[in-house]
Amino acid sequence: MTTKAAGHAITGALQEEFRRRLAAARSEIHARVATTDDELATLEAHQAGNPPEDVTTEIASALLSRLEGREKHELDEIDAAQARLAASTYGACEGCYGAIPLERLRAVPTTRHCVTCQRHEERKGESLAGG
Ligand SMILES: [Zn+2]
Repeated sequence: MTTKAAGHAITGALQEEFRRRLAAARSEIHARVATTDDELATLEAHQAGNPPEDVTTEIASALLSRLEGREKHELDEIDAAQARLAASTYGACEGCYGAIPLERLRAVPTTRHCVTCQRHEERKGESLAGG
């Protein structure tokens, strides 16, 4: 197999696999905020992109406001990953546009960067002084 330029082939069965992984990650967060089955059902019914006047959107955002900053961030990352999956840009590194290895995607389905670029980003965060 020759993988030439960028453009990861996250399609077909793989796309389905990651769709499920992201959905599972989202459900996990939902389960953390929901205190009743009804609340959980509302969160599960709610889809990002529903019109704001949609009743599930309203209830869901009230429930999701219970999330801590870290979990909120996690959910945002899942949203973003699901959007990338829908737009077929999932699995491409946002730094170098290279393909993110599948094993990395499986370990961290919401990741935006390959390992190299991730290190870069982390280092950038550490040493913003001078440049
Ligand atoms: Zn990269």
